[in-house]
Amino acid sequence: MRVLEPLIELARGLWTTLRFMFEKPVTVQYPEQKKPVKPRFRGRHVLNRYENGLEKCIGCSLCAAACPADAIFVESSENTDGKRFSPGERYASTYEINMLRCIYCGFCEDACPTEAITLGDQYELSFTDRRQAIYPKEMLIEPVPVGGQPTPQKTEPGVFTRSVPEMKDPRD
Ligand code: SF4
Ligand code: SF4
Repeated sequence: MRVLEPLIELARGLWTTLRFMFEKPVTVQYPEQKKPVKPRFRGRHVLNRYENGLEKCIGCSLCAAACPADAIFVESSENTDGKRFSPGERYASTYEINMLRCIYCGFCEDACPTEAITLGDQYELSFTDRRQAIYPKEMLIEPVPVGGQPTPQKTEPGVFTRSVPEMKDPRD
């Protein structure tokens, strides 16, 4: 009987292989193939724009104040109607996030009064140098939407006076 034991074990192993040969593979051929993320996934940050291309970020630094990891650095400058980046008085002339510090808690998103910063679905974060881990505004800002214009824009005086859009429904 002891002579048959290795053969039984071999047969069991082959049976396991055979069983899984006809099942749908779970392997994803990354990076050619990408799995969609869950709806509540928090990936790399995106700085959003309005439909007309103006930047939603008004350089208020509330996100930086809310960040528990001290990962955000914001420097703001004045908008003018001849050179406008965002509605209202100020825009973020410098916006940086240190991805080595970020813990993807989403507090920055919650603190933002204009919904300028959101944690998107991008998870491809790789760098070989500590300096590369600091993502500047140019990397974070979304492309200009179709029909919009790049910033800075020349705008009509007195049109974009509010930094924070008026709420249509205060319960929003
Ligand atoms: S997700 Fe959290 S840790 Fe990361 S930048 Fe935002 S507030 Fe800071
Ligand atoms: S992302 Fe939002 S909270 Fe942060 S500086 Fe810009 S407007 Fe203010």
